[in-house]
Amino acid sequence: MTGQVMNNPSEEEKVSGVQETMKAAVVNQFHEDLRIEEVPVPQVGAGQVLVKIKACGVCHTDLHAAHGDWPVKPKLPLIPGHEGVGEVTATGTNVTHLQVGDRVGIPWLYSACGYCEYCLDGKETLCKDQQNAGYSVDGSYADYCLAEADYVVKIPDSLSYVDAAPIFCAGVTTYKALKVGGAKPGDWVAIYGIGGLGHVAVQYAKAMGYNVVAVDTFDEKLELAESLGADKVINPKKEDSGEFIQREVGGVQASICTAVTKPAFGEAYRAVKRGGTCVAVGLPPEMMEIPIFDTVLNAVSVAGSIVGTRKDLQEALQFAAEGKVQTHIETAKLSEINRVFADLEAGKINGRIVLVNE
Ligand code: NAD
Ligand code: ZN
Ligand code: ZN
Repeated sequence: MTGQVMNNPSEEEKVSGVQETMKAAVVNQFHEDLRIEEVPVPQVGAGQVLVKIKACGVCHTDLHAAHGDWPVKPKLPLIPGHEGVGEVTATGTNVTHLQVGDRVGIPWLYSACGYCEYCLDGKETLCKDQQNAGYSVDGSYADYCLAEADYVVKIPDSLSYVDAAPIFCAGVTTYKALKVGGAKPGDWVAIYGIGGLGHVAVQYAKAMGYNVVAVDTFDEKLELAESLGADKVINPKKEDSGEFIQREVGGVQASICTAVTKPAFGEAYRAVKRGGTCVAVGLPPEMMEIPIFDTVLNAVSVAGSIVGTRKDLQEALQFAAEGKVQTHIETAKLSEINRVFADLEAGKINGRIVLVNE
């Protein structure tokens, strides 16, 4: 979308009074600062909606995108952002279930094919023909974002835009990872990394009836975890967390690793009890090494978990609407994005930063 010649506004857009250009934070080159640019407002096509973005959470994935960290690179130039929420201001032809004024969010799963074996089997996040918001297509670090009407998810009335935004990635991802972990109520689970994802993971875990060990290398993040209900906390800088968890609670049924460092994955694995599951969620661009002998003898499963389906997202939003999960948020302006990225990289952010449009 960025850099394209602007078309004439469609009838719908004239009706809803949408402006012709908008502000967006744009990645032009990996590892360079994002630039705030004036770009054309995208035009809705068939099956699409245009969303006036009110708020967008800043996920560590956006930092990976801006750095080109992963084997599959994002498009450039790129408008990042996959926790964008706002109001529908225009609907394309063939859109019947959404109307102008609806409150929706645009998650990482921007679209999927709808007919492959994964889409048909309720595993749409594995679709090989998916698009990803703020990665393969432009996302929500902007005044407006285009979306596929079938893949946006409505926000419950009782949830504010700012509170809803992080649920569209941090919330749904950790809720789904806990499901993948397969623990039963009353079981112990470990959450590795109490950042944007981890601090909501603690809350989903408590709401799902688990006992929770929180692990992070920053003491203030462990304090946040405790205030959110974590039963035990451990800083791996002080003691090997895998050993601590085996000693204190006999290991965990599910160990959810959201940290962005390789050593955390090793410790998360060692924290698992016999028959339990280590769920990889964080995405450092490194190898995860696991011992074959222990994996076999202890019947430990290692699973990857990638975001969540639209149905997972509806469920994750409902927890937040009922007040069982509340994101710890600081707001910032779009123009502050480079400072926010630097703080995120340095581990200085406690909770989630949400960009708010005036
Ligand atoms: P974040 O930076 O907010 O949180 C990461 C946390 O890990 C920080 O609190 C940091 O202090 C902590 N940490 C660092 N080293 C640690 C260690 N050795 N042990 C324990 N904790 C440690 O990032 P985020 O937005 O929560 O994202 C986390 C990761 O998850 C990123 O790699 C992101 O790309 C990935 N992600 C994956 C999915 C998915 O679907 N699998 C979805 C969203 C994000
Ligand atoms: Zn994300
Ligand atoms: Zn598909």
